[in-house]
Amino acid sequence: MSKPFASSTDLVDKVETLEVLADGVYALTAEGDPNVGAIEGDDFVVCVEARATPVAARDWLDRLREHTDKPVRYLVLTHYHAVRTLGASAFNAAEIVAHDQTAALIAERGDVDWASELGRMPRLFREPESIPGLTWPTVTFSERLTIPLGGGRGSLVLAHCGRGHTAGDIVAWLPRSGVLFAGDLVESAAAPYTGDAFHREWASSTLDTVAGFGARALVGGRGAVARGADAVTAAIEQTRGFLTVLGAEVGVVHGRGGTLREAFEAAHAALAPTYGGWPIFEHCLPFNVQRCWDELDGIGWPRIWTAERDREVWAELQG
Ligand SMILES: [Zn+2]
Repeated sequence: MSKPFASSTDLVDKVETLEVLADGVYALTAEGDPNVGAIEGDDFVVCVEARATPVAARDWLDRLREHTDKPVRYLVLTHYHAVRTLGASAFNAAEIVAHDQTAALIAERGDVDWASELGRMPRLFREPESIPGLTWPTVTFSERLTIPLGGGRGSLVLAHCGRGHTAGDIVAWLPRSGVLFAGDLVESAAAPYTGDAFHREWASSTLDTVAGFGARALVGGRGAVARGADAVTAAIEQTRGFLTVLGAEVGVVHGRGGTLREAFEAAHAALAPTYGGWPIFEHCLPFNVQRCWDELDGIGWPRIWTAERDREVWAELQG
């Protein structure tokens, strides 16, 4: 029996929780839906991630406005995915900050990714007609960009840790409070999505660099805030474990000349006991296995996910 496509039948709203992680540092988590965050500067706010639509973003901003009425000067996008970028207009940010490759990916595939993600996760696209168009970064960088927060608040460091979830992920690091916003490079008890990923680099040097910050609190792309060094390490290593098992299982089947479907079944069997109960596990796995397979085929640059290709891969693997 075929499973319902991606998250198309996940239609029940999640409970959203706003947490104050340090003075002027906020995270909004939502039971496995994409997380967002904000950091107060002296006379401005930096927001991290934009949500899928301006209407969805406004709900988050309403919660944030219970704590601060400072204007949003910077909107930081950790990567190009539609559910994290298309709500940007709600922030009226002076600057939209992202990695060079994020800007390039939006230009290359942003419109197609919009249609793909809308089909996969319709619930996140609240009032999709409120989206004015693609979100274009106004400030991009390749390695590191530091935003002084002013007023004795220290700095916010934006850093590229290597390729991982996409070619252009960045993290947002607050050295003073030890809080790290990791984007989708780290998931906290939610399944990683790897359909645009660079599996080996992500599971090795990129996550090593993320771990090297020594964060005391980590806000991943989805799932609860990891609080304390042990929980931070656990979240990073859970993500690494998922990637490692996925890569190993798909690699064995690919290496012996098996089929994509066999690789999917092997990966599913190996991952499900540990990760199968996590949000979006079934949704992600077909796309993850396909990208992993493509990498083993020598396809360096991730193929573009169109709404049509989404359905084809789903039918082949989850059908
Ligand atoms: Zn993502």
